[in-house]
Amino acid sequence: MLNFSFSQEQDYFRDMLRNFSVNVLLPQYTKWDREKTLPRHLWKKLGELGVNGLRIPEEYGGSGAECVTAGIAAEEIGRGDFNLTYAVMLNALASEIITNHAAEQLKKTWLPQIASGEKIVGVAITEPSAGTDAAGIRSTAVHKGDCYVLNGEKSGISAATFGDAFIIFAKTDQNSGSKGISAFIVPSELPGVECKGYDDMGNIPIGRGSIYLTEVEIPEENLIGLENNGFFQVMNGFDLSRLLIGLQCVGAAFQSIDETIEHVKTRHAFGKPLARFQGVSFPIVTHYTQLELIKWQAYRGLWLRDQGKKHTREASSVKWLGPKYSQEAIHECMLLNGHYAYTKDMPLEQRLRDVIGLEIGDGTAQANQIVIAKELIGKEFRPY
Ligand SMILES: Cc1cc2nc3c(=O)[nH]c(=O)nc-3n(C[C@H](O)[C@H](O)[C@H](O)COP(=O)(O)OP(=O)(O)OC[C@H]3O[C@@H](n4cnc5c(N)ncnc54)[C@H](O)[C@@H]3O)c2cc1C
Repeated sequence: MLNFSFSQEQDYFRDMLRNFSVNVLLPQYTKWDREKTLPRHLWKKLGELGVNGLRIPEEYGGSGAECVTAGIAAEEIGRGDFNLTYAVMLNALASEIITNHAAEQLKKTWLPQIASGEKIVGVAITEPSAGTDAAGIRSTAVHKGDCYVLNGEKSGISAATFGDAFIIFAKTDQNSGSKGISAFIVPSELPGVECKGYDDMGNIPIGRGSIYLTEVEIPEENLIGLENNGFFQVMNGFDLSRLLIGLQCVGAAFQSIDETIEHVKTRHAFGKPLARFQGVSFPIVTHYTQLELIKWQAYRGLWLRDQGKKHTREASSVKWLGPKYSQEAIHECMLLNGHYAYTKDMPLEQRLRDVIGLEIGDGTAQANQIVIAKELIGKEFRPY
Protein backbone atom coordinates (compact mmCIF):
# COMPACT_ATOMS: atom_id res chain seq x y z
CA MET A 1 0.00 0.00 0.00
CA LEU A 2 1.31 3.45 -0.89
CA ASN A 3 0.18 6.27 1.38
CA PHE A 4 1.46 9.85 1.23
CA SER A 5 -0.60 11.22 4.12
CA PHE A 6 0.75 12.47 7.43
CA SER A 7 -0.91 11.39 10.67
CA GLN A 8 -3.45 13.67 12.35
CA GLU A 9 -0.88 14.41 15.09
CA GLN A 10 1.70 15.37 12.47
CA ASP A 11 -0.79 17.66 10.72
CA TYR A 12 -1.55 19.32 14.05
CA PHE A 13 2.18 19.70 14.80
CA ARG A 14 2.73 21.25 11.34
CA ASP A 15 -0.13 23.75 11.83
CA MET A 16 1.13 24.74 15.27
CA LEU A 17 4.71 25.22 14.01
CA ARG A 18 3.62 27.08 10.84
CA ASN A 19 1.69 29.51 13.01
CA PHE A 20 4.63 30.02 15.40
CA SER A 21 7.17 30.24 12.60
CA VAL A 22 5.36 32.77 10.43
CA ASN A 23 3.88 34.90 13.23
CA VAL A 24 6.66 34.84 15.86
CA LEU A 25 9.93 33.90 14.15
CA LEU A 26 9.62 35.53 10.73
CA PRO A 27 9.10 39.13 11.94
CA GLN A 28 12.41 38.90 13.85
CA TYR A 29 14.39 36.76 11.38
CA THR A 30 16.58 39.59 10.08
CA LYS A 31 17.12 41.08 13.55
CA TRP A 32 19.39 38.25 14.75
CA ASP A 33 21.42 38.44 11.53
CA ARG A 34 21.99 42.18 12.03
CA GLU A 35 22.77 41.75 15.74
CA LYS A 36 24.96 38.69 15.02
CA THR A 37 23.41 36.75 17.92
CA LEU A 38 21.59 33.50 18.38
CA PRO A 39 18.32 34.22 20.21
CA ARG A 40 18.79 31.66 22.99
CA HIS A 41 15.32 32.50 24.37
CA LEU A 42 13.74 31.39 21.07
CA TRP A 43 15.93 28.28 20.97
CA LYS A 44 14.57 27.47 24.44
CA LYS A 45 11.03 28.27 23.31
CA LEU A 46 11.49 25.70 20.53
CA GLY A 47 12.49 23.29 23.31
CA GLU A 48 9.15 23.99 25.03
CA LEU A 49 7.33 23.36 21.75
CA GLY A 50 8.97 19.94 21.54
CA VAL A 51 11.21 20.75 18.58
CA ASN A 52 14.66 20.27 20.13
CA GLY A 53 14.09 16.78 21.48
CA LEU A 54 12.26 15.18 18.57
CA ARG A 55 14.96 12.54 18.11
CA ILE A 56 15.61 12.07 21.84
CA PRO A 57 13.86 9.17 23.60
CA GLU A 58 11.15 10.09 26.13
CA GLU A 59 13.18 8.70 29.04
CA TYR A 60 15.81 11.38 28.37
CA GLY A 61 13.36 14.27 28.06
CA GLY A 62 12.56 14.13 24.35
CA SER A 63 9.52 12.90 22.47
CA GLY A 64 11.10 10.02 20.51
CA ALA A 65 9.21 11.24 17.46
CA GLU A 66 9.56 9.75 14.00
CA CYS A 67 12.08 11.18 11.55
CA VAL A 68 9.18 12.29 9.34
CA THR A 69 7.98 14.49 12.22
CA ALA A 70 11.46 16.02 12.51
CA GLY A 71 11.21 16.74 8.76
CA ILE A 72 7.95 18.63 9.31
CA ALA A 73 9.67 20.73 11.99
CA ALA A 74 12.64 21.48 9.70
CA GLU A 75 10.36 22.57 6.86
CA GLU A 76 8.09 24.75 8.99
CA ILE A 77 10.78 26.46 11.10
CA GLY A 78 12.70 27.01 7.84
CA ARG A 79 9.83 29.23 6.72
CA GLY A 80 10.23 31.60 9.64
CA ASP A 81 13.89 31.51 10.63
CA PHE A 82 16.39 29.45 8.69
CA ASN A 83 18.99 29.67 11.46
CA LEU A 84 16.71 28.46 14.22
CA THR A 85 16.16 25.33 12.13
CA TYR A 86 19.52 24.18 13.50
CA ALA A 87 17.45 23.42 16.65
CA VAL A 88 15.93 20.62 14.58
CA MET A 89 18.83 19.55 12.37
CA LEU A 90 21.90 19.98 14.59
CA ASN A 91 20.05 18.67 17.64
CA ALA A 92 18.85 15.62 15.70
CA LEU A 93 22.40 14.85 14.53
CA ALA A 94 24.06 15.36 17.94
CA SER A 95 21.36 13.65 19.95
CA GLU A 96 21.19 10.58 17.67
CA ILE A 97 24.97 10.13 18.01
CA ILE A 98 24.69 10.41 21.82
CA THR A 99 21.54 8.26 22.09
CA ASN A 100 22.86 5.48 19.88
CA HIS A 101 26.48 5.33 21.03
CA ALA A 102 27.26 7.19 24.28
CA ALA A 103 27.49 5.76 27.80
CA GLU A 104 24.43 6.01 30.04
CA GLN A 105 25.87 8.81 32.17
CA LEU A 106 26.56 10.97 29.11
CA LYS A 107 23.02 10.43 27.88
CA LYS A 108 21.60 11.45 31.27
CA THR A 109 23.81 14.53 31.42
CA TRP A 110 23.35 15.89 27.91
CA LEU A 111 20.12 14.67 26.31
CA PRO A 112 17.57 16.31 28.67
CA GLN A 113 19.41 19.63 28.39
CA ILE A 114 19.51 19.43 24.59
CA ALA A 115 15.79 18.65 24.55
CA SER A 116 14.90 21.59 26.81
CA GLY A 117 17.13 23.99 24.88
CA GLU A 118 19.30 24.72 27.94
CA LYS A 119 22.42 23.43 26.24
CA ILE A 120 23.65 23.43 22.66
CA VAL A 121 26.00 20.71 21.45
CA GLY A 122 27.88 21.13 18.16
CA VAL A 123 29.43 18.46 15.95
CA ALA A 124 33.07 19.07 15.02
CA ILE A 125 34.64 17.03 12.24
CA THR A 126 36.05 19.48 9.67
CA GLU A 127 39.66 20.69 9.95
CA PRO A 128 41.71 23.17 7.95
CA SER A 129 43.19 20.35 5.86
CA ALA A 130 40.23 17.92 5.88
CA GLY A 131 36.70 18.81 4.78
CA THR A 132 35.26 16.60 2.06
CA ASP A 133 38.06 14.18 2.87
CA ALA A 134 36.80 13.88 6.46
CA ALA A 135 38.83 10.74 7.14
CA GLY A 136 41.97 12.86 6.67
CA ILE A 137 41.61 14.71 9.99
CA ARG A 138 44.78 15.25 12.03
CA SER A 139 43.52 16.11 15.53
CA THR A 140 44.70 13.52 18.01
CA ALA A 141 43.35 11.94 21.19
CA VAL A 142 45.86 10.02 23.29
CA HIS A 143 44.71 7.69 26.06
CA LYS A 144 46.66 8.57 29.23
CA GLY A 145 45.62 6.93 32.51
CA ASP A 146 41.90 7.54 33.00
CA CYS A 147 41.62 10.36 30.48
CA TYR A 148 42.21 11.27 26.86
CA VAL A 149 44.37 14.25 25.88
CA LEU A 150 43.16 16.08 22.76
CA ASN A 151 45.19 18.33 20.47
CA GLY A 152 44.30 19.87 17.12
CA GLU A 153 42.16 22.40 15.29
CA LYS A 154 38.58 22.14 14.07
CA SER A 155 37.30 24.61 11.48
CA GLY A 156 33.97 25.75 10.06
CA ILE A 157 32.05 24.42 13.06
CA SER A 158 28.45 25.57 13.60
CA ALA A 159 27.78 26.92 17.11
CA ALA A 160 31.55 27.26 17.74
CA THR A 161 31.09 30.63 19.43
CA PHE A 162 28.35 29.58 21.86
CA GLY A 163 28.23 25.76 21.97
CA ASP A 164 28.20 24.33 25.50
CA ALA A 165 29.94 21.20 24.26
CA PHE A 166 31.11 19.63 21.01
CA ILE A 167 31.18 16.11 19.71
CA ILE A 168 34.79 16.16 18.56
CA PHE A 169 36.31 13.66 16.16
CA ALA A 170 40.00 12.89 16.59
CA LYS A 171 42.53 10.25 15.61
CA THR A 172 43.13 7.56 18.22
CA ASP A 173 45.14 5.45 15.80
CA GLN A 174 47.57 7.42 13.65
CA ASN A 175 48.28 4.51 11.36
CA SER A 176 44.72 3.93 10.14
CA GLY A 177 42.46 6.16 8.06
CA SER A 178 38.76 6.28 8.84
CA LYS A 179 39.19 3.22 11.07
CA GLY A 180 41.38 5.15 13.53
CA ILE A 181 38.92 7.95 14.39
CA SER A 182 37.04 8.29 17.70
CA ALA A 183 34.35 10.69 18.93
CA PHE A 184 34.31 12.49 22.30
CA ILE A 185 32.01 14.87 24.12
CA VAL A 186 34.11 17.91 24.97
CA PRO A 187 32.54 20.65 27.14
CA SER A 188 33.63 24.03 25.78
CA GLU A 189 34.54 25.35 29.25
CA LEU A 190 37.43 22.87 29.66
CA PRO A 191 40.95 24.32 29.93
CA GLY A 192 42.70 24.20 26.55
CA VAL A 193 39.51 24.71 24.47
CA GLU A 194 39.47 28.00 22.60
CA CYS A 195 36.77 29.06 20.11
CA LYS A 196 36.96 31.85 17.55
CA GLY A 197 34.07 33.01 15.32
CA TYR A 198 34.11 33.86 11.59
CA ASP A 199 32.73 36.86 9.77
CA ASP A 200 30.39 34.72 7.66
CA MET A 201 28.28 35.61 4.62
CA GLY A 202 25.15 33.92 6.02
CA ASN A 203 24.01 31.65 8.86
CA ILE A 204 25.41 34.48 11.00
CA PRO A 205 23.47 33.76 14.22
CA ILE A 206 24.84 30.20 14.09
CA GLY A 207 28.27 31.46 15.16
CA ARG A 208 30.42 29.29 12.91
CA GLY A 209 34.09 29.24 13.76
CA SER A 210 37.24 27.35 14.70
CA ILE A 211 37.91 25.33 17.83
CA TYR A 212 41.51 25.06 19.02
CA LEU A 213 42.37 22.13 21.27
CA THR A 214 45.59 22.34 23.29
CA GLU A 215 46.36 19.52 25.72
CA VAL A 216 42.64 19.20 26.56
CA GLU A 217 42.12 16.49 29.18
CA ILE A 218 38.76 14.76 29.13
CA PRO A 219 37.61 11.81 31.26
CA GLU A 220 37.68 8.52 29.36
CA GLU A 221 33.90 8.18 29.95
CA ASN A 222 33.47 11.01 27.43
CA LEU A 223 34.46 8.68 24.60
CA ILE A 224 31.32 8.07 22.51
CA GLY A 225 30.93 4.45 21.48
CA LEU A 226 33.97 2.39 20.66
CA GLU A 227 37.50 3.67 20.23
CA ASN A 228 38.43 3.93 16.51
CA ASN A 229 34.77 3.64 15.50
CA GLY A 230 33.75 7.30 15.50
CA PHE A 231 33.73 7.78 11.74
CA PHE A 232 31.26 4.99 11.11
CA GLN A 233 29.04 6.08 14.00
CA VAL A 234 28.52 9.53 12.56
CA MET A 235 28.08 8.58 8.90
CA ASN A 236 24.64 7.15 9.57
CA GLY A 237 23.69 10.40 11.36
CA PHE A 238 24.46 12.37 8.20
CA ASP A 239 21.75 10.48 6.36
CA LEU A 240 19.31 12.14 8.75
CA SER A 241 20.82 15.63 8.86
CA ARG A 242 21.04 15.75 5.06
CA LEU A 243 17.33 15.03 4.68
CA LEU A 244 16.50 17.65 7.32
CA ILE A 245 18.74 20.23 5.64
CA GLY A 246 16.87 19.63 2.37
CA LEU A 247 13.58 20.37 4.09
CA GLN A 248 14.89 23.40 5.99
CA CYS A 249 16.04 24.92 2.68
CA VAL A 250 12.82 23.99 0.92
CA GLY A 251 10.84 25.60 3.78
CA ALA A 252 12.68 28.90 3.30
CA ALA A 253 12.12 28.69 -0.46
CA PHE A 254 8.40 27.85 -0.19
CA GLN A 255 7.91 30.83 2.12
CA SER A 256 9.67 33.03 -0.46
CA ILE A 257 7.39 31.67 -3.19
CA ASP A 258 4.25 32.31 -1.10
CA GLU A 259 5.36 35.89 -0.46
CA THR A 260 6.19 36.35 -4.15
CA ILE A 261 2.82 35.03 -5.31
CA GLU A 262 1.14 37.65 -3.10
CA HIS A 263 3.42 40.31 -4.58
CA VAL A 264 2.83 39.45 -8.24
CA LYS A 265 -0.93 39.33 -7.70
CA THR A 266 -1.00 42.86 -6.31
CA ARG A 267 1.84 44.65 -8.10
CA HIS A 268 0.83 46.10 -11.49
CA ALA A 269 2.90 46.78 -14.60
CA PHE A 270 1.58 47.78 -18.02
CA GLY A 271 -1.89 48.06 -16.48
CA LYS A 272 -2.07 44.45 -15.26
CA PRO A 273 -1.04 42.41 -12.23
CA LEU A 274 2.44 40.92 -12.78
CA ALA A 275 0.92 37.47 -12.33
CA ARG A 276 -0.81 37.81 -15.70
CA PHE A 277 2.53 37.56 -17.51
CA GLN A 278 3.77 34.06 -18.23
CA GLY A 279 7.31 35.42 -17.92
CA VAL A 280 6.49 35.99 -14.26
CA SER A 281 4.24 33.03 -13.44
CA PHE A 282 6.14 30.24 -15.20
CA PRO A 283 9.38 30.73 -13.24
CA ILE A 284 7.32 30.49 -10.06
CA VAL A 285 5.80 27.26 -11.37
CA THR A 286 9.23 25.88 -12.31
CA HIS A 287 10.69 26.49 -8.85
CA TYR A 288 7.56 25.28 -7.08
CA THR A 289 7.76 22.03 -9.06
CA GLN A 290 11.45 21.48 -8.28
CA LEU A 291 10.87 22.17 -4.58
CA GLU A 292 7.95 19.74 -4.43
CA LEU A 293 10.16 17.02 -5.95
CA ILE A 294 12.84 17.59 -3.31
CA LYS A 295 10.27 17.80 -0.52
CA TRP A 296 8.77 14.42 -1.32
CA GLN A 297 12.15 12.78 -1.87
CA ALA A 298 13.11 14.07 1.58
CA TYR A 299 9.98 12.72 3.26
CA ARG A 300 10.52 9.42 1.43
CA GLY A 301 14.06 9.24 2.82
CA LEU A 302 12.82 10.04 6.33
CA TRP A 303 10.07 7.46 6.03
CA LEU A 304 12.62 4.84 4.92
CA ARG A 305 14.75 5.72 7.95
CA ASP A 306 11.71 5.32 10.22
CA GLN A 307 11.17 1.86 8.68
CA GLY A 308 14.82 0.93 9.31
CA LYS A 309 15.44 0.75 5.55
CA LYS A 310 18.43 2.05 3.61
CA HIS A 311 18.10 5.70 2.60
CA THR A 312 21.63 6.92 1.91
CA ARG A 313 21.15 7.80 -1.75
CA GLU A 314 17.85 9.55 -1.00
CA ALA A 315 19.63 11.60 1.68
CA SER A 316 22.50 12.55 -0.59
CA SER A 317 20.23 13.45 -3.51
CA VAL A 318 18.19 15.73 -1.23
CA LYS A 319 21.34 17.33 0.23
CA TRP A 320 22.80 17.88 -3.22
CA LEU A 321 19.72 19.37 -4.92
CA GLY A 322 17.66 20.72 -1.99
CA PRO A 323 19.89 23.71 -1.12
CA LYS A 324 20.64 24.27 -4.86
CA TYR A 325 17.00 24.37 -5.99
CA SER A 326 16.08 26.42 -2.92
CA GLN A 327 18.71 29.11 -3.51
CA GLU A 328 17.70 29.25 -7.19
CA ALA A 329 14.05 29.69 -6.18
CA ILE A 330 14.85 32.40 -3.61
CA HIS A 331 17.06 34.19 -6.13
CA GLU A 332 14.20 34.19 -8.67
CA CYS A 333 11.77 35.43 -6.01
CA MET A 334 14.13 38.28 -5.24
CA LEU A 335 14.15 39.32 -8.91
CA LEU A 336 10.36 39.04 -9.20
CA ASN A 337 9.95 41.33 -6.18
CA GLY A 338 11.97 44.01 -7.92
CA HIS A 339 14.46 46.49 -6.52
CA TYR A 340 13.00 46.66 -3.05
CA ALA A 341 13.84 43.00 -2.46
CA TYR A 342 17.49 43.88 -2.99
CA THR A 343 17.41 45.88 0.26
CA LYS A 344 17.96 44.41 3.68
CA ASP A 345 14.43 45.45 4.67
CA MET A 346 13.10 42.27 3.09
CA PRO A 347 14.14 38.77 4.21
CA LEU A 348 14.91 37.46 0.71
CA GLU A 349 18.57 38.53 0.51
CA GLN A 350 19.23 36.95 3.92
CA ARG A 351 17.49 33.72 2.97
CA LEU A 352 19.69 33.55 -0.10
CA ARG A 353 22.87 34.02 1.95
CA ASP A 354 21.70 31.54 4.58
CA VAL A 355 20.70 28.78 2.15
CA ILE A 356 23.97 29.02 0.19
CA GLY A 357 25.83 28.08 3.41
CA LEU A 358 24.16 24.70 3.40
CA GLU A 359 25.22 24.05 -0.17
CA ILE A 360 28.59 23.53 1.56
CA GLY A 361 27.86 22.54 5.18
CA ASP A 362 27.25 18.82 5.81
CA GLY A 363 28.81 17.92 2.46
CA THR A 364 29.00 19.71 -0.89
CA ALA A 365 27.16 18.69 -4.07
CA GLN A 366 30.20 16.70 -5.20
CA ALA A 367 30.58 14.98 -1.83
CA ASN A 368 26.99 13.80 -2.10
CA GLN A 369 27.34 12.82 -5.74
CA ILE A 370 30.30 10.67 -4.69
CA VAL A 371 28.08 8.90 -2.14
CA ILE A 372 25.41 8.23 -4.77
CA ALA A 373 27.95 7.14 -7.41
CA LYS A 374 29.54 4.67 -4.99
CA GLU A 375 26.13 3.10 -4.41
CA LEU A 376 24.99 3.15 -8.02
CA ILE A 377 28.19 2.20 -9.78
CA GLY A 378 30.05 0.28 -7.09
CA LYS A 379 33.77 -0.36 -6.91
CA GLU A 380 34.43 0.66 -10.52
CA PHE A 381 33.79 4.26 -9.41
CA ARG A 382 36.98 5.61 -7.79
CA PRO A 383 36.72 9.21 -6.60
CA TYR A 384 40.02 9.30 -4.70
C1 LIG B 1 27.28 26.91 6.94
C2 LIG B 1 28.28 25.83 7.24
C3 LIG B 1 28.15 25.07 8.39
C4 LIG B 1 29.09 24.08 8.70
N1 LIG B 1 28.97 23.40 9.88
C5 LIG B 1 29.89 22.45 10.19
C6 LIG B 1 29.80 21.76 11.44
O1 LIG B 1 28.93 22.03 12.28
N2 LIG B 1 30.73 20.79 11.71
C7 LIG B 1 31.72 20.48 10.83
O2 LIG B 1 32.50 19.57 11.13
N3 LIG B 1 31.85 21.14 9.65
C8 LIG B 1 30.96 22.12 9.31
N4 LIG B 1 31.07 22.82 8.13
C9 LIG B 1 32.19 22.51 7.23
C10 LIG B 1 31.74 21.69 6.03
O3 LIG B 1 31.30 20.41 6.41
C11 LIG B 1 32.92 21.62 5.02
O4 LIG B 1 33.16 22.94 4.60
C12 LIG B 1 32.58 20.76 3.81
O5 LIG B 1 32.59 19.40 4.18
C13 LIG B 1 33.58 20.97 2.65
O6 LIG B 1 34.88 20.91 3.11
P1 LIG B 1 35.94 22.05 2.71
O7 LIG B 1 35.32 23.36 3.01
O8 LIG B 1 37.22 21.73 3.39
O9 LIG B 1 36.11 21.96 1.15
P2 LIG B 1 37.07 20.95 0.33
O10 LIG B 1 36.94 19.58 0.85
O11 LIG B 1 38.42 21.55 0.27
O12 LIG B 1 36.42 21.02 -1.10
C14 LIG B 1 36.56 22.18 -1.94
C15 LIG B 1 35.81 21.90 -3.24
O13 LIG B 1 36.33 20.74 -3.90
C16 LIG B 1 35.31 19.78 -4.11
N5 LIG B 1 35.86 18.43 -3.97
C17 LIG B 1 36.58 17.94 -2.93
N6 LIG B 1 36.89 16.64 -3.16
C18 LIG B 1 36.32 16.30 -4.34
C19 LIG B 1 36.26 15.11 -5.13
N7 LIG B 1 36.83 13.96 -4.73
N8 LIG B 1 35.58 15.13 -6.31
C20 LIG B 1 34.97 16.27 -6.72
N9 LIG B 1 35.00 17.42 -6.02
C21 LIG B 1 35.66 17.44 -4.85
C22 LIG B 1 34.25 20.10 -3.05
O14 LIG B 1 32.98 19.63 -3.44
C23 LIG B 1 34.33 21.61 -2.98
O15 LIG B 1 33.56 22.18 -4.00
C24 LIG B 1 30.17 23.84 7.82
C25 LIG B 1 30.30 24.60 6.66
C26 LIG B 1 29.38 25.60 6.37
C27 LIG B 1 29.57 26.45 5.15
